[in-house]
Amino acid sequence: MATPKGAIGNEPVVRIAVGGEHDGTDRLNAARDTAETVDVVAVGPTGVEALAPLVLATRDGATAFLPRCTVEDARTAVEALEDGSLPDGGPTVEHDPTTSTLPLPPEETMVSTALTAGVRRALGGCGWQAPASVADYRTSCDGALLAEDGIDDPDAVHERVADAALRGRGRGDGSTDDPISGAWTTASETDGEPVVVVNANEADDHARADRLLLESAPLAVLDAALATAHAVDATDVLVYTNDTESLARERAQEAADALAAECDSPVPIQVVAGPDEYTAGEMTMALEAMEGNDRLEARRRPPGPAEYGLYGRPTVIHTPRTFAQVGQALAGEGLGGVPGDPGTRLFTVAGDVDAPATIELPTDATLADVRGAVALDGGLKTACVGGRFGGLTRDLDVPASASGLRGARLGTNGVIELFDESTCTVALAGRRAKLAREENCGRCVPCREGSKQLVDLLRDVYDGEYQDGMLRELARTMRETSTCEFGQEASRPVTTAMESFEPEFRAHADGRCPSGSCDGVSS
Ligand code: SF4
Repeated sequence: MATPKGAIGNEPVVRIAVGGEHDGTDRLNAARDTAETVDVVAVGPTGVEALAPLVLATRDGATAFLPRCTVEDARTAVEALEDGSLPDGGPTVEHDPTTSTLPLPPEETMVSTALTAGVRRALGGCGWQAPASVADYRTSCDGALLAEDGIDDPDAVHERVADAALRGRGRGDGSTDDPISGAWTTASETDGEPVVVVNANEADDHARADRLLLESAPLAVLDAALATAHAVDATDVLVYTNDTESLARERAQEAADALAAECDSPVPIQVVAGPDEYTAGEMTMALEAMEGNDRLEARRRPPGPAEYGLYGRPTVIHTPRTFAQVGQALAGEGLGGVPGDPGTRLFTVAGDVDAPATIELPTDATLADVRGAVALDGGLKTACVGGRFGGLTRDLDVPASASGLRGARLGTNGVIELFDESTCTVALAGRRAKLAREENCGRCVPCREGSKQLVDLLRDVYDGEYQDGMLRELARTMRETSTCEFGQEASRPVTTAMESFEPEFRAHADGRCPSGSCDGVSS
């Protein structure tokens, strides 16, 4: 396989972001058709949709940003570089020609502030490095691949991750919010051939960070996964994506091929796809789907996947977000954040915003930092933090650490939906309860029957009967006795809405929707 051409240091170069919600393929083709001497390189998205499609034109250590670039703008950018200048129309930033992370122009010159919100460490290469270029990637890790370190000294890889006390990120992780080194130890000490799974299967369409990493920085994810495989003595690595995410899969495959060509690892990386259904994102259902089972049900735990995972093998399963943190830990620089939960967390900010954006916050930052990253129509009424079954809150002054989020009864799945004043929190909680009723796998009674009762009790509110004690007791039962996280978290939007917006529930029982958005209730 030909090694994909890199972008770093090959000036002049035009980078065209291809991927995300705004495919830039037509810009890429137009730029390549126009180019005679300058390089035109496809990069991944930055995660900031307000900028997409984004084109970057670089020469002599300066880069011109062309956000929301048209096909014609892309041609003009190539022509400007060929003429020895930079294109007009967007902010320009000067930088080290060999920088491996996206250089950021001053905040006031950008059409979106999301690029400068928080930090860009795991996201640093997104939009800048050619996704499958090992040359670009090597510049970000001072030349040495993590997998090479893993081959040379697998114990040191494990020790560094254990010393960092790194915790798993996301709902599809085998160690969600828990230190991951325990699962690594269990997998490597259990009989059988360990396998490493990169679980990017996520059906909450607001959760875009894993897809972003695979589309934009797949080498960082796969290199860390390969280093992990050596640390736990695994025989193979599997990357698992949603069926519809063909670009993420394509780039993961290109990155896997590039790594195989570059590094002497005997561990193969395979890229596979699975169903998009909501439940497949639950980690044990992802394993069931990978085994080809048609009827997806969560497995009872214990034993967890580290003991009994894919086809019964000891399995280390992490999300791309977690592997990105593993890479940061192995890179040798301090992870920062809070000591018990170091590093950063990726949050996709969505809801009533002009355009969603994925941003990165250190775990000692607060969620309030996302407010400046996106434009919200109207005032902020509530945020749902943690995905579809996250917690509703008015207060974003909460640390981005797992303990901070859980302490505030919020979810940790890396999505923050912001809702303006027109949102009815009773209706919002009701929609999440219906989702739980419709999408649960049906295996266990607390979730299957509990989610039906949850919807019924919320319907009773609209009929004039707010049974808050029964709602709380039902939520407690679902939380404490459901088999998997789906059922354990399904009632959270309802309970947190009741805590923060109790008067709205009582108003609905009195036949009035304070936000005026519930048909047949508002007076
Ligand atoms: S909690 Fe829900 S999704 Fe999980 S096993 Fe039980 S019924 Fe299935």
